[in-house]
Amino acid sequence: MKSLRFLSFTMAVCMLCLLALTSCPAAEVSASDRGLEAEPLAADTTQTAGFSDVPAGAWYADAIAYCQQHGIMSGASATTFEPEGTLTRAMLAAVLYRMSGSPTVSAPPAFADTAAGAWYSDAVSWAAGNSVISGYGGGTFGVNEPTTREQAVTILWRYAGNPESGTALDVSDAVSVSTWAQAAVRWADANGILEGMTENRRFEPKTNIKRGEIASMLYHYLSSAGSSQPGPAAGGKTLVAYFSATNTTRPLAEYAADILSADLYEIVPENPYTEADLAYYTNGRADREQNDSSARPAISGGVESMADYDVIFLGYPIWHGQAPRIISTFLESYDFTGKTIIPFCTSHSSGIGSSDTNLHTLASGASWLAGRRFAGGTSRSTVEDWISGLALPQPETEVDAITSATSKAGFNFETKSVTLNSGYEMPINGLGTYSLHGETCVNSVKSALASGVRLIDTASAYGNEEEVGQAVREAMEELGLQREDIFIITKIYPGSEMANPEQAIQACLDRLDLGYVDMMLLHHPDRNDVKAYQAMEKFVEDGKIRSLGLSNWYVKELEEFLPQVTITPALVQNEIHPYYQENDVIPCIQDLGIVVQGWYPLGGRGHTAELLGDEVISGIAQAHGVSSAQVILRWNLQKGVVVIPGSSNPDHIRENTELYDFKLTEAEMAQINALDRNEKHDWY
Ligand code: NAP
Repeated sequence: MKSLRFLSFTMAVCMLCLLALTSCPAAEVSASDRGLEAEPLAADTTQTAGFSDVPAGAWYADAIAYCQQHGIMSGASATTFEPEGTLTRAMLAAVLYRMSGSPTVSAPPAFADTAAGAWYSDAVSWAAGNSVISGYGGGTFGVNEPTTREQAVTILWRYAGNPESGTALDVSDAVSVSTWAQAAVRWADANGILEGMTENRRFEPKTNIKRGEIASMLYHYLSSAGSSQPGPAAGGKTLVAYFSATNTTRPLAEYAADILSADLYEIVPENPYTEADLAYYTNGRADREQNDSSARPAISGGVESMADYDVIFLGYPIWHGQAPRIISTFLESYDFTGKTIIPFCTSHSSGIGSSDTNLHTLASGASWLAGRRFAGGTSRSTVEDWISGLALPQPETEVDAITSATSKAGFNFETKSVTLNSGYEMPINGLGTYSLHGETCVNSVKSALASGVRLIDTASAYGNEEEVGQAVREAMEELGLQREDIFIITKIYPGSEMANPEQAIQACLDRLDLGYVDMMLLHHPDRNDVKAYQAMEKFVEDGKIRSLGLSNWYVKELEEFLPQVTITPALVQNEIHPYYQENDVIPCIQDLGIVVQGWYPLGGRGHTAELLGDEVISGIAQAHGVSSAQVILRWNLQKGVVVIPGSSNPDHIRENTELYDFKLTEAEMAQINALDRNEKHDWY
């Protein structure tokens, strides 16, 4: 059932976005609206698991995982990516258009082979208007034409703003590269963007580019200094920590700290290493420690406030192919959750090998960038070149707290509210009452209102509208609140209620007995849903309902429904939690100016223990000194999703309102995004 729904979603993304007159092509780009956000490259290769044709070890597997996780490209179907498939010029325009954040386009494309309102329409207009992709000749765009490798590289180069590259082209078939593509291919080669595409140093410029290769190019572009990511010096607070027993690693660490304007910390052993300790193959101290994976040489002193650092460069010498065990001591001494670690090592002969990746488990909550080995005596300029090519996380600014997703959803974190398309303001955190009945319900709603909650979600199907109404009336009196201060959502149910909507709507109003309802939703799609919605529209005209919405409506259902009604829904309430994220559906709904609200934010009863106990979530919670529930709710808010956790526990209810004094970093958001299992916790 899950995969069927997902399939229908994939097909429907395009249709829905046509309705919105925004470009949202189904096969090539997910509906996610992420642009060139700079995030550390922490692709979780297991995330390609959904694609049966992307083996974990494939050279492009990381790139596909990255593009998928960042909403840049999605599968060709629910289960396949088709890495060997080709990409048309319109598809490439659409991928880059989405990467640029889908800016508003004023005019339709003016090519003989393009149609206004087609799925690629905005993307093609944008690409042509910004000289990213020019015409194909004869007044056409070449919508359905494949893209060659040199064309694709040139298009990406233009997208990057035609950057300079003075390096000679280092491929054996350089002579075959067209003159107009030379600068672009040189730039791509110098910035590692052709990684994996130059087998035996042949670039094959005239060969059609494949989907896996495009994913790889975009992945390497976004992780290179050639992308629009900020330079490292602009990043958050950085620490260069190093261990140097013989002073070989020390100068590199000092260069790095100087280049990065970072703090420098030397990992000093409590018991310093003598020359004899370091003598190889003597069964001396270093030999013994390296042979014992549990060895943890003690460190003298420590980093004063590790919490201040977002980025840690970690330098060490290579001892018997690995990092000295004192590096393990260091990594186990602090909480690196949400931080970015960049290892570097010095070695006279061997490479960094597995010495860096073997450290990952010691700080699994961190995002690890690929490590780099340097020879002893490496120059400052070599270190500088390395650092300037790294994809370090974006600086922590106020903007991080309110991500592009949040601002797109129109969330105001000051007022803790969002203005709906109906013109009414709605709080962005509330209380769900699904399982609350009788006195428990009255007390919980009153407790929520006393804790500052101003949004209550009920439904005729919950059988508790009377209790909710009673609690609101009592709280208004006891707390001195006005009716307008409180936002009540209720829902009518499929079957007999939607078959007799006027009666069902009036019954909700009567049971709540609050004068009017702030918002009424259709609880599920139903054969009478249009008729029921049209009845709700009449109640809006009469001032008995203020805003309308839908629940359990996904893209396909919306696509069919919207043309049949007059008032665009203000809200869609769907299942959303870290194990079922709907990352593609959410932005598509938001593109329509509809607010997204998540039900089962904590996984729903029976699933909360697993979700709240999730290692990643509890690690992040610990780092911020908050609860797992607060991390999940904050993650939702930063994604632009309104939260309505259910609770009958006054402490939990209050805790669930305390979501505005901390913010999750981009890396932490990415870590939670990577938990998605497409695992629905209820059937609808
Ligand atoms: P939920 O919010 O995901 O989880 C509720 C559970 O989490 C309760 O067992 C609650 O226990 C616990 N909890 C709440 N806050 C906590 C905290 N801070 N720490 C630890 N545990 C905490 O599930 P839900 O209430 O079923 O769903 C939320 C709301 O969504 C519903 O109430 C309903 O309004 C709506 N909903 C809508 C639909 C739909 O089809 N439209 C479907 C389902 C739900 P305690 O009581 O002990 O705090």
